[in-house]
Amino acid sequence: MNQDDSKPGANFIRNLIDADQQAGKHGGRVTTRFPPEPNGYLHIGHVKSICLNFGIAKQYNGQCNLRFDDTNPAKESEEYVNAIKDDVSWLGFEWSGLHHASDYFDQLYDFAVDLIKQGKAYVDSSSAEEMRSMRGTLTEPGIESPYRNRTIEQNLELFASMKAGEFDDGEHILRAKIDMTSGNINMRDPALYRIRKISHVRTGDKWNIYPMYDFTHCLSDAIEGITHSLCTLEFADHRPLYDWVIDQLDTPCHPQQIEFARLQLEYTMLSKRRLIQLVNDKLVDGWDDPRMPTVLGLRRRGYTPESLKDFCERIGITKNDSVIEMAVLETCIRDDLNANAERRLAVLDPIKVVITSLPKEHSQTLSFQNHPQDESAGTRAYEFNREVYIEREDFAENPPPKYQRLVPGGEVRLRGCYIIKCTDVIKNDAGEIVELHCTHDPDTLGKKPEGRKVKGVVHWVSAKTSLTATIRLYDPLFSTSNPAAAESFESEVNVDSVTVMSNARIEPSLAQAAPETRFQFERTGYFVADRIDHSQQAPVFNRVVTLRDVWAKP
Ligand code: ATP
Ligand code: MG
Repeated sequence: MNQDDSKPGANFIRNLIDADQQAGKHGGRVTTRFPPEPNGYLHIGHVKSICLNFGIAKQYNGQCNLRFDDTNPAKESEEYVNAIKDDVSWLGFEWSGLHHASDYFDQLYDFAVDLIKQGKAYVDSSSAEEMRSMRGTLTEPGIESPYRNRTIEQNLELFASMKAGEFDDGEHILRAKIDMTSGNINMRDPALYRIRKISHVRTGDKWNIYPMYDFTHCLSDAIEGITHSLCTLEFADHRPLYDWVIDQLDTPCHPQQIEFARLQLEYTMLSKRRLIQLVNDKLVDGWDDPRMPTVLGLRRRGYTPESLKDFCERIGITKNDSVIEMAVLETCIRDDLNANAERRLAVLDPIKVVITSLPKEHSQTLSFQNHPQDESAGTRAYEFNREVYIEREDFAENPPPKYQRLVPGGEVRLRGCYIIKCTDVIKNDAGEIVELHCTHDPDTLGKKPEGRKVKGVVHWVSAKTSLTATIRLYDPLFSTSNPAAAESFESEVNVDSVTVMSNARIEPSLAQAAPETRFQFERTGYFVADRIDHSQQAPVFNRVVTLRDVWAKP
């Protein structure tokens, strides 16, 4: 990697662009692109690249294209193309031009012919095995292929026959003629075209040969007039080839490739190839499983576009590889939802409380604030009856030290309501607690009790008006912080990473929430109405994130 232009800090790319602008390079124009291969769904690493490319275009009043790098028909599909477009739009970005590398197949072919005519490309008929053995190593130079000195006419003829489908996969390959002794292995006569007798989603059976990434990418950039081609660090070693190809050919512009560090995130894996394996092996429930680091998974989990963009802002752009802690991502959504999500009450694991001091038909309408820091969110009516549900874990028959919730003979405040005292613990034949009997202190609504301190406050819902809901809680999908390093990452999958609470009780207004509406359930976390499964008849919520950072070291 060339370190000369490396400069620490979040703005090294912007600094480079500023310098280009001052020098009048590209006539002051800034055009970027986001170039995914449509071979899977986007993940949060791609979001970093999207925010960078679209963000720079916006900052410099430039343009950003969305380009599908669709040169490998075996792995690509229209499903992925559509999913990627949806994800970019959902994040809130608008592309200037929508392109496919396959749009340029004719031009790319002409460029290849041009290289052959210049004596800078040749058809090699060595087997893949032979080519590998002649490639050399990091410390040893490569060996020139016996086919390297074919005449221009022979090469033109063979390349045309490759195109016409006269050969089988692997029989020949078109290579650049650069330098088999180069210290950079990418410059040792890299492959430019290979035979692939397979039909392409967009070009059908027109082509029997497909261009390689290193040939396609730089020329697609040049054809589109990209000024700054931003990519991840692993392409730094490909930059000499990127520049070489463009230098040999007559292209509308010479884009500058600039590399930045990939996003790596703890407890997950950012690689489409591996994520697809999780989907195919059914270790997750699809690309949109709320535990997946895909854009669709994060969306279903309840992340907002704003929180993901905020995350990318916070981590910045550098040239140094680093692994970001999950807590950073969670803090972004927590901050967003703390400010913007309305509050509601829901009981995940209910136990019934009968307030025996109230008449059976007792009904009282309380008023609850929708957001403690935002009066404009308004209030809602909340019904209180003789029977309520509280969280099973908010009662302890044999409390541990310092326990401040309900205990036999103890008092606790029902959130926004009365103080109650536990008088009886009702058990079934198996000895399990089925119900709690309490009395209420009628003088404690909105008031502190006289002469005693009641510390605990618990959330509750009315037994009469609340509705049953399914609530899903998520743990990290992997049990180790760096699953990619494991011998088999699939064995690192935490199979217990979903907990389904199917008897949760929610206040009635929650059932009416539109899918993807987010709330804070007081005391239990931030939740979203599932965008696929939630309905008024069968409400389903996913926990987006807990109220507090569970990663924080003790
Ligand atoms: P994957 O291995 O997951 O398929 P990729 O790099 O092959 O990733 P592409 O579809 O080729 O995926 O990527 C499109 C763009 O997104 C590229 O410019 C790539 O550099 C960038 N990108 C991919 N992964 C990350 C990441 N983890 N962090 C930042 N940018 C990324
Ligand atoms: Mg790729």
